[in-house]
Amino acid sequence: MPQSTLTHLECSLTGQTYEADQVMNLAPNSQRPLLARYDLAEAAKSLTPENLVRRKPGMWRYREVLPVRSDANVIDLGEGSTPLLKAARLGETIGCQNTYIKDESLNPTGSFKARGLGMAVSRAKELGESVLAIPSAGNAAGAMCAYAAAGGLEAHVYMPRDVPHTFKAECQAYGGSVTLVDGLITDCGTKVAEGVQAHGWFDLSTLKEPYRLEGKKTMGYEIAEQFDWTLPDVIIYPTGGGTGLVGMWKAFAEMEEMGLIGSKRPRMVTVQTTGCAPIVRAYDRGERFADEWENAATIADGLRVPKAVGDFLILDAVRASEGTAITVTDEAIMESVGLMASLTGVFPAPESAACLEAQRVLLSQYMIGRDETVVLFNTGTSLKYTHLFG
Ligand SMILES: *Cc1c(COP(=O)(O)O)cnc(C)c1O
Repeated sequence: MPQSTLTHLECSLTGQTYEADQVMNLAPNSQRPLLARYDLAEAAKSLTPENLVRRKPGMWRYREVLPVRSDANVIDLGEGSTPLLKAARLGETIGCQNTYIKDESLNPTGSFKARGLGMAVSRAKELGESVLAIPSAGNAAGAMCAYAAAGGLEAHVYMPRDVPHTFKAECQAYGGSVTLVDGLITDCGTKVAEGVQAHGWFDLSTLKEPYRLEGKKTMGYEIAEQFDWTLPDVIIYPTGGGTGLVGMWKAFAEMEEMGLIGSKRPRMVTVQTTGCAPIVRAYDRGERFADEWENAATIADGLRVPKAVGDFLILDAVRASEGTAITVTDEAIMESVGLMASLTGVFPAPESAACLEAQRVLLSQYMIGRDETVVLFNTGTSLKYTHLFG
């Protein structure tokens, strides 16, 4: 069995290093995200294309570059190895033949949050934590409660009061304790911080512990493997906290260092909505850090994130890749849901429909070429958002 080659944690802003096998949230000095680092030379010995074809599907197939050390701590609900669909009819209609959808809605609990939370809950268990807490727009809470249930950990979730009923029901069914908060996800984060202070809970907020990122980075490994160890020209990503985009960018660097891919990178496109666009605003202003967005409002709940602790990691990746950052309106999102569903058979979450709208705009502005290979992310199932469709 392959083993984790985790060596240490590193502050994403200052580069300061920390011992890996201790419980940590943000880097103590900078209050910025910690990144997991591996012995990639060692990992490369067994993490080869030839070996991978013989491994079973799922995100744990990349075990050498994942943080969980003992099999006994792996909580596996079958996450990962989601389809990369060639959207032929959609591509023809919008004039971009090589359009693909990475369909993350097939993950356990119906969203790609399963990858991050599956990894983070497993690692928290390995490090001896037993009571977890999270602020969430819905999908992260459902995923955390599911993995906590499977692993026998206690789960406390804080969601905005207007969260779709499905999420509340789901979390409670998994045995989670649900608190609805008057406010946004940032206000939920404040409540979680209070619980951490008062009761010693472990905070699984996005990028505030190092391992959700490691789960989400497996999307980058999968895309490379599914494109036969090449990468597409463009990846369009609906950005809230940005964990998936930052994770894929980290995966590409690791893969290049291990000799699995070359130096070519996709242009990374961040999509937000006109009602909450802190990253796009900072991109447009040429800033590395993003100010908090006031009065955030959008139907795409996963994108209603007014402030991201990994802001500079998102912006650095977008700029280094020569990608871009773009906003779309809620109205355009609702139109794009129908367009995508009727031409692909995939009923996308509003966040994912935002990617399609962004692609159409960027095609019309010649920022994406009509013969380029473009990957859109369907980050979650729309079946949890049926209230939006009357
Ligand atoms: C959380 C979420 C997002 C945003 O993901 P980040 O990695 O936090 O940027 C997008 N879509 C859906 C459906 C989500 O649940």
